[in-house]
Amino acid sequence: MVDATPTLFTRIINRDIPAEILYEDDQCIVINDISPQAPVHMLVIPRQPIAKLADASEADKALLGHLMWVAGEVARQAGVEDAFRLVVNNGQAAGQTVFHLHLHVLADPSGSLDFSESTI
Ligand code: AMP
Repeated sequence: MVDATPTLFTRIINRDIPAEILYEDDQCIVINDISPQAPVHMLVIPRQPIAKLADASEADKALLGHLMWVAGEVARQAGVEDAFRLVVNNGQAAGQTVFHLHLHVLADPSGSLDFSESTI
């Protein structure tokens, strides 16, 4: 059975819950993360509530590409286009807590975020 309950991010998109909206277009919205893990921590969220990346269908390929393009665009707007990290948590065991696909854009304009420490 399909769960018709709007996701947290759908409620933000519908303006039922407030958020700092940085960008929006006909396919997605970008907000500041409420609990930032870096000085710049934005979430790129499709209007279409795909629960997780692995649930996207072939018909969603253009949308997924658009989300990537928007991530670069908002990184440019934030002045962090030379150094940012894009993260997608897919599934609870991978740390996903909101089951509405989203891309985390993480950066530190001061350059103190040490990406070299990463295990990835
Ligand atoms: P994930 O753990 O990958 O599902 O990421 C969910 C993200 O949503 C977390 O980084 C949360 O801090 C963020 N988040 C949860 N509620 C809100 C909210 N009301 N506004 C903005 N970001 C939120």
